[in-house]
Amino acid sequence: MLRKSRLNLAKQAILCAIVILLVFCPRSCPITHAWSVSGHQAIASKACRLFPGRWGDFFRYYEWLLNETVAYPDTFYKGRDPAEGSRHYVNLEVWNASRPETGTLPSAVETYGRSMADAIKAGDWNKVLLDAGRLSHYISDICQPYHSTVNYDPVTKSGIRLHAVWDAAIMTHLSEIRFISFIGTPQIVNLAEYALTLARQSYSFLVEINTTLIDLGQPWSSRLTEIVENRTNTAIIATTNVWHTAVAGSNANAPILPENKKLNIVATSLLQTIDVSRDSVFEFVVTDQLGVKVASEIRADIAGITLETESHLDLADPLGRYRTLLQANKLGGLGAVAEFIVIAQRSGYVPARLVVSVQVLGRPTGQPDYMIYVSIVASIFMLISFVLLVREYRKQAPM
Ligand SMILES: [Zn+2]
Repeated sequence: MLRKSRLNLAKQAILCAIVILLVFCPRSCPITHAWSVSGHQAIASKACRLFPGRWGDFFRYYEWLLNETVAYPDTFYKGRDPAEGSRHYVNLEVWNASRPETGTLPSAVETYGRSMADAIKAGDWNKVLLDAGRLSHYISDICQPYHSTVNYDPVTKSGIRLHAVWDAAIMTHLSEIRFISFIGTPQIVNLAEYALTLARQSYSFLVEINTTLIDLGQPWSSRLTEIVENRTNTAIIATTNVWHTAVAGSNANAPILPENKKLNIVATSLLQTIDVSRDSVFEFVVTDQLGVKVASEIRADIAGITLETESHLDLADPLGRYRTLLQANKLGGLGAVAEFIVIAQRSGYVPARLVVSVQVLGRPTGQPDYMIYVSIVASIFMLISFVLLVREYRKQAPM
């Protein structure tokens, strides 16, 4: 009897610990990708295609790039920015705007919505597309029901973790989803409040999802496919709404889209001289006609010597920045002036070519400099003069 009550006490203590962990454990724990990269891309692409008017043309022109920037919050910002993780969810049961560990998604949508409007006003189209990608990502994440709860990764009786199942759900059920084909006019919304409203909608599906997959132990149901369809279409509409809110907030017109897709190479470091006694780098960005950075294939050489170029990734600006390495050990044979050439190319674009005449200074270690020869000859000449002078002095000196 005593043993049984002790066992019960132990069980209760464990249960209590689990509940406390669920409620208070901040999501430093793994996972939380929300919709796979392809799921996010499917949503962003549909939003581009449904967005009306001139701004719709702008989003469609850059659909390929938005398909990249929409993935950055998971693929790029997460490993680099400690504040990134909590931008992807809202723990509705305990949510508190002043406790970041309970989710900063609403304020992130507000912050990047304002940032996108400012970037439009400034004509910084590169930033506009980075912010538009972030906005679509965060506002779509909150349409994934398991991004609205502390119990974000429940496990079925057979041990299947459900967060990953729902992250993959758009792609798993892609052929069954009837995507919306018309959105009317996108709405201007209060961004943070809108994110919370979507979180509450997502949360309202959790009982049904958990009952089907956990309590009843069913592998899936047609009703769950309907919920995936609902959440996907909601994410598409939400993306157009947050983009529209930023566009309307800027009060600006869409830019005129260049007819010729042409790349430019813009130097961000000087290269008039190179000192070949040490390694140096040449930094540049590749942009299109609107100044939007474009990832490209780079070829660089100096006087026919092939040089390595690396993509230079930066948290604020992940795309299209490069540095060509001018390694001293490769450049020993250069003359006084050398031609430095960089070519950037990407399919669908007219390539860019940069040609610079650079003055070559110094010599790599191990190769005596011209000045050393001059000094040696001068020293020998001075020594001979000194010897001749001493001889002359001795001749003239009285014996
Ligand atoms: Zn995410």
